[in-house]
Amino acid sequence: MSRPDVVRTSTAELYDAHVLKNYGRPALTLVRGSGSHVWDDQGTQYLDFTSGIAVSALGHCHPHWVAAVQRQAGELIHVSNLFRNPNQGELARRIVGYAGPGRVFFCNSGAEANEALLKLARLHGMKKAGGEEGKIYKVICAKNAFHGRTFGGMSATPQEKIQKGFRPLVPGFAFGELNNLASFEELIDGQTAAIFIETIQGESGVNPVTTEFLLGLRELCNRHNLLLILDEVQCGIGRTGKFYAYEHTGVRPDAIGMAKGLGGGFPIGAVWIGEKSAELYQPGMHGTTFGGTPLACAAALAVLDVLEREQLMEKVTVRSAVWHRELEQLVSEFPSQVLGVRGRGYLVGVQLASDPTPCLVAAREAGLLAVFAGNNVMRLLPPLTATSAELTRSVEILRSVFATKK
Ligand SMILES: *Cc1c(COP(=O)(O)O)cnc(C)c1O
Repeated sequence: MSRPDVVRTSTAELYDAHVLKNYGRPALTLVRGSGSHVWDDQGTQYLDFTSGIAVSALGHCHPHWVAAVQRQAGELIHVSNLFRNPNQGELARRIVGYAGPGRVFFCNSGAEANEALLKLARLHGMKKAGGEEGKIYKVICAKNAFHGRTFGGMSATPQEKIQKGFRPLVPGFAFGELNNLASFEELIDGQTAAIFIETIQGESGVNPVTTEFLLGLRELCNRHNLLLILDEVQCGIGRTGKFYAYEHTGVRPDAIGMAKGLGGGFPIGAVWIGEKSAELYQPGMHGTTFGGTPLACAAALAVLDVLEREQLMEKVTVRSAVWHRELEQLVSEFPSQVLGVRGRGYLVGVQLASDPTPCLVAAREAGLLAVFAGNNVMRLLPPLTATSAELTRSVEILRSVFATKK
């Protein structure tokens, strides 16, 4: 029997024909990954310093993660929150172990985590107003922030390219200048419920909060009875060498949003709420069908297992110190192109003099995948498992890119 002719349509053609055009047109079709590397459909290998935008914390297809997900997929995948499942309980315990006494809510993405946090701010405001709704509801965020694409997250994201076309936004957001305490303080009024910021701004070009600033915000929140809420969706889960990036400052938040690295590639988000505010959420007030499934939590537990067993945070700290110094050398070698290096651990922004797109293309052609960030920044997000040799290789590739452009 002869096989019918199969009309081969390329993935690029399928995308062009059928996938919504909300993203820019991707340059590559990726078909396989292992550790810090991915391969495209032409068989070309790349050093992947995008990690799926800070998601693939253990690199691609870590054997422990694969085994855990395969095992769980054959046992129990989804039951909804009509029922308990052991993995959700255990994962909540582990997150409380990192964040401190409190409670955890599970969802499926960073934006969803932030929605739960913004709703928490409303609940806090209502309590502050003696139970009256809609009186105290304002949230102060930072300029250049990114908190996701839902209505709440977008309203907390003061960027024209994010908000354009979708107004009117959720009311009640005000924006201070990151690391300028006075600019936040002057926005506080009788209607303010919370301050909500990224510990390290990722999308807008890797801008960390200073310890002094975060300490100041903590003090303002204490004085005015506001919640201090941190978006650790990108910078959390070991990426900076500590489990949460705020741990570098010694400041304790009232609530935390996390997602990206938590599932190691499986979609999961989570919110930790400290014990003082956790009871604001009562039965029926919030929920999501997919939150905290046995499978998603198995993936996240596998990430935490490997993070601990392989001492990845210690490795990130040690290896990144050398890597940052190597990257800094590019500033002195190519002063007209490379203006600086920022960030912490494996969350790094290379400040360029102009739009990073040509350098990202050249790096890709030389075998290194990196991520665009706002304000002329090239973002490097290696998996937490990346070795010193791989980090050094990324610098060599970037050197060749800048040398050719010179
Ligand atoms: C990516 C990101 C989000 C949004 O997460 P999604 O999973 O894309 O919804 C929110 N906040 C920060 C800081 C992020 O980096």
